[in-house]
Amino acid sequence: MSEIDYSKRSFNYYPTNAIVFSKCVGNRWSAPEVTNDFNFSLHCFAGVFHYAPSCFEGMKAYRGVDGRVRLFRPDENALRMESSARYLDMPAPSVEMFIDMCVKCVQENWDCIPPYESGASLYLRPVLFGINPQLGIKSAADVMFAVMCSAVGTYSGAKSLVPGAAVLSRNYDRAATYGSGGYKLGANYAQSLHAYNLAHKMGYRELLFLDSATHSHIEEFGSSNFFAIKHGCYITPNSPSVLPSITNKSLRKVAEEFGLKVERRTIFIDELETFEEVNSCGTAVVITPISRIDDKVTLESGTITREYRYGDVCGPVSEKLYKRIVGIQNGTEEDNYGWCMFVNDPK
Ligand SMILES: *Cc1c(COP(=O)(O)O)cnc(C)c1O
Repeated sequence: MSEIDYSKRSFNYYPTNAIVFSKCVGNRWSAPEVTNDFNFSLHCFAGVFHYAPSCFEGMKAYRGVDGRVRLFRPDENALRMESSARYLDMPAPSVEMFIDMCVKCVQENWDCIPPYESGASLYLRPVLFGINPQLGIKSAADVMFAVMCSAVGTYSGAKSLVPGAAVLSRNYDRAATYGSGGYKLGANYAQSLHAYNLAHKMGYRELLFLDSATHSHIEEFGSSNFFAIKHGCYITPNSPSVLPSITNKSLRKVAEEFGLKVERRTIFIDELETFEEVNSCGTAVVITPISRIDDKVTLESGTITREYRYGDVCGPVSEKLYKRIVGIQNGTEEDNYGWCMFVNDPK
């Protein structure tokens, strides 16, 4: 068998062995099934095709330096999916069922888990969506829960910790003030893709969304949270329309461990000028430094670009945080919080 070159992989779908799924029909969950058939057969009136009753999760299985495989805080993902499903008023798997099916998916795809040295990992994608035929405007009564995976490299395809540029989203919002931004819904992505595509076409790696009510403060990137370092502080926005990132939550703990002060608060755009280091964070991106944030401001005389610059290398504090969190995930650093859950080799 030829060796797979994981360094060439980006955050993408690569074939694996199997998926695990269960259906909840009439409030009864079926026994989870494993299949190598990657096509679902669904009714054409299933809610997911029409009104987007759909939420998902993202987590990684890491092969550690000791050869053992770990999941990072899967209980947090299970609880967040429960919260997303509650928002959509549809059934959700229990925390136990969620974790069991994720473990099963890892075990069924054991030979797809990249080696420690590659820096790559097995990304797990649990999805939950409405399947009962419907036309009337109602929440989905019956749902399917499926866990699939893909062995991925880093999100940007570039090496990790290589900074990229971002632009403020002045013409499009990700989430409304009293909307669904705090839940991990497919719909949040559907409606931000167009803005994302425009930013990418302009050559930006990231799009930084503002609060939809006033466009005066920072919310988050399209698929990852925002945090900045200034005067020994770890600063991240506090807003109900920002997705509660588990990576961000964990980094706040690690930051405290390092003696940083942690501030969750409103960040006005003007404050961007004062930050020493700026990053995006999330399961897929881990920590990705931001080299520059452009703000294209439209004036009567035309559009001007204000630039906030953070340098072309990862900042020292962010790098320390990165090493600690990745170290916990792959077993080179002590996991004194009990964040990692070991998955047993199925053989
Ligand atoms: C999933 C997601 C994140 C990152 O959350 P993690 O739990 O750290 O992976 C951030 N923002 C958005 C919009 C997301 O969907």
